[in-house]
Amino acid sequence: MPELPEVETIRRQLAERIVGRTIRGARVSDPRLVDPWEPNTFAGRLEGRRVERIDRVGKYLFIELDGDEALTLHLRMTGQLLWSDDVPDPPLPYTRAVIGIEGGGSVTFADSRRFGTAWFLPRVGRERIWAGRTGPDAMSAAFTARGLGDRLRGRTACAKALILDQRIVAGVGNIYADEALFMARVNPAEPGGNLTAPRVTSLHRAIRDRLRMGITAGGASFDRYRDVNGERGGMQDLFRVHRRRGEQCPRCQTTIEKGVVAQRGTYWCPKCQPLMEGD
Ligand SMILES: [Zn+2]
Repeated sequence: MPELPEVETIRRQLAERIVGRTIRGARVSDPRLVDPWEPNTFAGRLEGRRVERIDRVGKYLFIELDGDEALTLHLRMTGQLLWSDDVPDPPLPYTRAVIGIEGGGSVTFADSRRFGTAWFLPRVGRERIWAGRTGPDAMSAAFTARGLGDRLRGRTACAKALILDQRIVAGVGNIYADEALFMARVNPAEPGGNLTAPRVTSLHRAIRDRLRMGITAGGASFDRYRDVNGERGGMQDLFRVHRRRGEQCPRCQTTIEKGVVAQRGTYWCPKCQPLMEGD
């Protein structure tokens, strides 16, 4: 699933292509993408509108349109936004919608598992509509070590489950959770409320550090993720523990383990990330 670095890579590349340009027309070929909207009504609402900006909060993209409304997208498991210099004919594999841009070019929403979603959000009242859907974006100034500590305090759920909770911090998924916990030397199964303030600070720093590295690498592509140009990212080559079961820890050479934590396949070094007893 695309996480913050993958969605941010898409945001930047898409902004270069379409900000300041006008949507010529759109076609929604999978009604489930825009449910409960009627596909032709949804597509018609895009026609003739100018793209002013593209924002991101966690894994959500907001394509800001004139008229104070955002086309809001979530790629979920396998969603891709792919740029073409024309309108592909035949459509790209797994196409669910195509947005044509005036002056040439198009953006295809392709999605083999079809869990991705698209809807409109007004600018006025958006904060109220959005309230509670996500916590602070992990790369924003609003995500602080102190705030993370406040959200972990007293929690008995494991550290991995808590940093995967988008209401605690928005943008972290399975990959970057494993990598950040390794960098901070926190066992994924350790209760979040166990972490002392210095360890929370270290975890906060590690989350930012690994996400920043992911953005620089253009995201991680071991399966479906591709950028707007259909290219693979490079972060998968920089993983320290994720998907490295049986390999040696790059810090201590202990064999990396894999298990299920927070219902997700989880990788860690048993020596660098020992399970601490509660205080
Ligand atoms: Zn180690």
